Amino acid sequence: MGTQPGHCIFCDIVKGAAEVSVCYEDTESIAFMDIQPVNAGHVLVVSRQHFESFLDLPKSLGTHLFEVAMELAPAIRKVSGADGMNVIVSSGAAAGQDVYHFHIHLIPRRQGDGFDVRLPFAEADVPDRTVLDMTAARIIGALRDPTRTRPTPRQSAAVP
Ligand code: AMP
Ligand code: ZN
Repeated sequence: MGTQPGHCIFCDIVKGAAEVSVCYEDTESIAFMDIQPVNAGHVLVVSRQHFESFLDLPKSLGTHLFEVAMELAPAIRKVSGADGMNVIVSSGAAAGQDVYHFHIHLIPRRQGDGFDVRLPFAEADVPDRTVLDMTAARIIGALRDPTRTRPTPRQSAAVP
């Protein structure tokens, strides 16, 4: 159920042009039931403005959306009676993103429900500490890079 080029189903939902079951909304965000839930109570927290992914999202909006997710999580747990919850953001095709309009998944989980995002990844090696240290140092360097940018709220590409 991918997004067709030049068309965004979540923008349609925000505009009121597509069917949706809303459980929360405010001026910047909307949260609604995933159309193909992993379990009952699977909610998507979505920005009203179109940003493709986590890496495109202005910091203040990202902070707000995670605050909304934190408000919703206990209510979802109560309603779904779930044992646990996954909070998932997939950013980019390699990460499995299907709809290119930023969203946070709140997925109530039950033992044995068959959905799997298990970590640590069984096929991954445990690298030498020097390798982990080196990667950490490179990230610290990238954080200090003065050319590092994040878009401000109105800088984003318009809805395709
Ligand atoms: P992803 O982009 O991989 O994080 O996942 C996109 C999610 O959006 C999937 O869980 C879909 O079931 C869900 N989805 C796609 N279209 C709709 C829609 N019209 N209403 C609600 N959820 C949707
Ligand atoms: Zn959109």
